[in-house]
Amino acid sequence: MMVNTGIIFFPAFDWSLGETHPEREERLLYTQEQIFEEGIMDFPQIKQYSPEVADIFDVLRTQAIFPDYRQHDLDAHLIAVGSSIILGKAIIEKELTNGFALIRPPGHHSGATVWGNRGFCTLNNEAILINTLRAKYGLKKLAIVDTDVHHGDGTQDIFYNDPNVLYISIHQDGRTLFPGTGFTEEKGGPNAWGTVINIPLVPGVGDEGFIYTFENWILPKLQEFQPEIIINSAGQDNHFTDPLASMNVSAQGYGKITELLKPDLAVLEGGYSIQGALPYVNMAILLALAGEDYSGVIEPQKLKNMEVSGEAFLSFIHDLKKHHDNVKPNWIFRKEKYFPSGDWVYGEKDIFYDTHWFRERRKDYVRKCNHCGGTVLMLSQNLETYEKGLVIRIPFEACETCEQAGYDLFDALKEREKNIFLQNLKNNKVIWRIGNGEVNFG
Ligand SMILES: [Zn+2]
Ligand SMILES: [Zn+2]
Repeated sequence: MMVNTGIIFFPAFDWSLGETHPEREERLLYTQEQIFEEGIMDFPQIKQYSPEVADIFDVLRTQAIFPDYRQHDLDAHLIAVGSSIILGKAIIEKELTNGFALIRPPGHHSGATVWGNRGFCTLNNEAILINTLRAKYGLKKLAIVDTDVHHGDGTQDIFYNDPNVLYISIHQDGRTLFPGTGFTEEKGGPNAWGTVINIPLVPGVGDEGFIYTFENWILPKLQEFQPEIIINSAGQDNHFTDPLASMNVSAQGYGKITELLKPDLAVLEGGYSIQGALPYVNMAILLALAGEDYSGVIEPQKLKNMEVSGEAFLSFIHDLKKHHDNVKPNWIFRKEKYFPSGDWVYGEKDIFYDTHWFRERRKDYVRKCNHCGGTVLMLSQNLETYEKGLVIRIPFEACETCEQAGYDLFDALKEREKNIFLQNLKNNKVIWRIGNGEVNFG
């Protein structure tokens, strides 16, 4: 089969968290050099696209940015998002078979409410892309498979109550690595139970374990869910040379995972072994997407770590899957006096912003509904400044009662709260109420 593979390079040379920071400008330089030197761009099926800036409305439909998005430096992030959207659209419009957005900054730690940068992420590239494609093309069922070594807690947060987005994350166990989440018990909200799948692996798993898990767990789940599009959050920090994590995947392993998964679009996430891994892993992924042989892509270093494999891995993964399958939900019902009718499921959590070292507290209420994803109310507070921000989200294809519940909440809250986002995904509108003013998007 002839494929057309699109790529975009956006190395964000003027965005950096510091010269010695692992998430720095050179992350994509070596990859770019390697791909050009090896003549990969001469393959007729590989087509390079130019980066573009995303519209802020595309961001605000998916993420509420507090206290005011104009106070954050979003320039590089908006280009990373925009580049993902360019490739996504080209794929939906059948101009491309698949694509690889080689961009930075990364995005998967950035959630539904944003007070700053965390885990090097401010905007969630894949989540914004997915909701933009749904809004513009009416896609119904979508999947994100996150192969970064860190749990994509931001992506999970955004889609936790969305029954039409399957989020699967395979990562190093959160007890041993940032951000400390992504356990098997986290399986989605009351209207979306089972559409979040977390596969936290013990440190030391390599190609064999990853390939086994794809073939025996991840691919069957995708087959069952039947998404119209599969996005791969392609983090490369599972590589055995990565300085931030402890896994043992090789460039060949990443090539094989890509070949098995067949993502429509791979979007670069983490990966901090800038010379030892990134150029090779990126090349293996690109060749696999383009249907070319990647067996010649071999990193200079050899695997020297102890790999968790064979019987030890099989027994581990079978126990983990069994545990995942047996977890039962435990909903807490709670509502305030001003809430519209229905049963509301409550949850709370603290979100740590490691870049600037502060916490956000989130209290979420989801309207339980058998007809749609359910309206969600998120009460967010920055625990450093005590500023508050609220989000009311009416889901895509909301039923009439849930949509009305969203507007009723907005009316009840707008006089007493200063900063509220109403995201109506059904009608593709965002209202941002700040002070006594309102800004309308869409
Ligand atoms: Zn990562
Ligand atoms: Zn509903």
